[in-house]
Amino acid sequence: MHTKIFSATTIGVDAYSVEVEVDMAFGMINFFIVGLPDTAIKESRQRIQTALKNCGLRLPERKITVNLAPADLKKEGTTFDLPIAIGILQAAKLIEISAEFLQETLFLGELSLDGSIKPIKGALAIAYDAQKLGKKRIILPEHNAQEAAFIQNIEVYGVKHLVELVAFLRHEQPLSKTVPVFKTEEQAYEIDFSQVKGQENAKRALLIAAAGKHNILFIGSPGSGKTMLAQRLTTIMPAMTFDETLQASKIYSISGKLQGKPLVTQRPFRSPHHTISQAGLVGGGAFPQPGEISLAHQGILFLDELTEFQRGPLEALRQPLESKEVCIARAQQSITFPASFLLVAAFNPCPCGYYGDKKRECTCSAQQVKRYLEKLSGPLLDRVDLQIHVPTIEYDVIKEKKQTTSSADMKKQVDKVVALQQKRFGNTLINNATMNPDQIEQFCLLTDAAEQLIKRVFNQLHLSMRGYHKVLKVARTIADLDQKETIDVVHLQEALMYRSLDQYFERIQS
Ligand SMILES: [Zn+2]
Repeated sequence: MHTKIFSATTIGVDAYSVEVEVDMAFGMINFFIVGLPDTAIKESRQRIQTALKNCGLRLPERKITVNLAPADLKKEGTTFDLPIAIGILQAAKLIEISAEFLQETLFLGELSLDGSIKPIKGALAIAYDAQKLGKKRIILPEHNAQEAAFIQNIEVYGVKHLVELVAFLRHEQPLSKTVPVFKTEEQAYEIDFSQVKGQENAKRALLIAAAGKHNILFIGSPGSGKTMLAQRLTTIMPAMTFDETLQASKIYSISGKLQGKPLVTQRPFRSPHHTISQAGLVGGGAFPQPGEISLAHQGILFLDELTEFQRGPLEALRQPLESKEVCIARAQQSITFPASFLLVAAFNPCPCGYYGDKKRECTCSAQQVKRYLEKLSGPLLDRVDLQIHVPTIEYDVIKEKKQTTSSADMKKQVDKVVALQQKRFGNTLINNATMNPDQIEQFCLLTDAAEQLIKRVFNQLHLSMRGYHKVLKVARTIADLDQKETIDVVHLQEALMYRSLDQYFERIQS
């Protein structure tokens, strides 16, 4: 008796069909799995046999051969336990599923020895592509049902135990379709900018960063609250759209990082440690997994202690910062993961941490400071529009009872500027920070006085073309916050303030 069950696997963020063929023949009692299985699939033989036995399902004494096709598709993980078990039961006539139902259904799931069905990775990505694979329904672990049910036009059935599924397939017991419980309303954050005392300049810079999607760099002594500030940036960014939620959730789904939540509905904040490897940061591995930059997709990537990161990982960030995706080359095929994130980087101004600090003296020599700053990756910093010094705060400021700007106030302003940009570019993928030189020329119109100012500054500061464009892009966002169509002197002046690092370099060089 021969039967075929459909399942799927993911490569990158895309799903691919896997056919599980089961053949049962007279001969020596044995059980083989073929079709390039990795160790996990070999082990699944043991799990499946034990699970079936523990569910009271006795197999006929036959030679069982399972083939996972196509053979050239690398198959990872334990997703195929359930389809293999169902295939065996069907081939043994212990269940009788109609040919039509089999053809229309994807089975996914790992089996425990007792027959309970354990979660898998990538359910959302598979559900997303299920229609493309010609399927009408998915039967998968209950734990993954919510993420899959987010996709419309596909029936999702979550199952907890093999016994439950067998009863359903034998028409002894119904199984209810999973209804998505995704709430579109915004979710409340526990953190808020009102918890940050002082640092009004840094908060203003973060407001500009969120509004125009500008990458930002903090320079500040230890304990100045750089991390606290960076974490709160997500609270003022626009709520995630349906499409953004879907994109981010797919990445978390294939990484197995949804952790019981059906979807990613808050913008991610990722802060990898400076010891992270290149594969950990940008993605990689034998079965390429998304790195931190993809987990930060549609959110924030925070790199604290930027000077401590290794050169390799930092250099590997250049391309994704430009193209908003990362391509991982493998012998057989290359895999692309999305990686559109807002970069927040921070570092101490010198090895001891107190260069330029008002309260403590820096003990580093000029040479030491210079060498330290040279460790920063130039090409990476070229992609940062805002640079700001974050001072340590005074005790009096911490004790102040004064009401400080809250995330809600800031977010209202961000939302207005985001709407302006959508109208301006007619495309949600472009924003002030990603304008090309033609767009800068078209959309960064200056008043006469502002024109005079930028001319003077351009010559005095020996601005590079890139530096000049950065100032104009930031000034555009500041003018947008001011609801002004034309960039004026005040907007330019403020934009020029966010060049702290360039000023540091100039001071060190002289
Ligand atoms: Zn120092």
